[in-house]
Amino acid sequence: MSHIGVLSDIHGNLPALEAVLTAFEEEEVERIVCCGDLVGYGPWPGAVIACLHEIEALSIQGNHDAAACGRLPLDYFNRAARFAIEWTRSTLSSEEVAYLEGLPPSHTEDGLVMVHGSLRGPLWEYILDRFAAGESFALLDRPLGLFGHSHIQGGFALLEEGIVTIDPTEGEVDLRPGARYLINPGSVGQPRDGDPRAAYALMDLNRGKFLFKRVPYDIEVMMREVLRAGLPRELAERLRMGR
Ligand code: ZN
Repeated sequence: MSHIGVLSDIHGNLPALEAVLTAFEEEEVERIVCCGDLVGYGPWPGAVIACLHEIEALSIQGNHDAAACGRLPLDYFNRAARFAIEWTRSTLSSEEVAYLEGLPPSHTEDGLVMVHGSLRGPLWEYILDRFAAGESFALLDRPLGLFGHSHIQGGFALLEEGIVTIDPTEGEVDLRPGARYLINPGSVGQPRDGDPRAAYALMDLNRGKFLFKRVPYDIEVMMREVLRAGLPRELAERLRMGR
């Protein structure tokens, strides 16, 4: 494995996914991996599933994916999320539901673990601070753990001096031998870190490089489609703010 594109939390946002896939083509990535939440919130769940299937992305299952295929009760979600999951369920074909059902809850390979939430709670726990990161570092038996769920680009490094926060605005992270990392590529389809552009990442584990990236996409087209589909207005408006 060398040049890998990293996605998470696409949430049925096709224009954002297409912008990121165009960037991947320009970067000539050899593989694409996804930390889950392909669907939920956005109006193009089927098209996003078709896209990931076509590019043979390796994806794990997010909490919205699990709920959309009936594997998680809806009581855990807020009103807008629950509405969108029910809407998503009503539009997916049985093949699309089977695709979501078939996504694994985590993935492990040489040098790498992927979860949606955290290593302690793969579907639900948010890694938002160094304390939560420490709980996952205790379970991480590889140099790198990729996660999503918080929709916030960035992460944490476990160095000799302790756990430090990684600032994604610095762009590139040198993965030091002997250190461990928990990294979130950010959300493609519903960023919540104040930057409305689609978030993604590039990594080259042979060279020990991890790169945080953003790309603009047509937010107006996405907002119009959210409203046209009858999804809650707040799901359209938050896209413009990146919150
Ligand atoms: Zn999500």
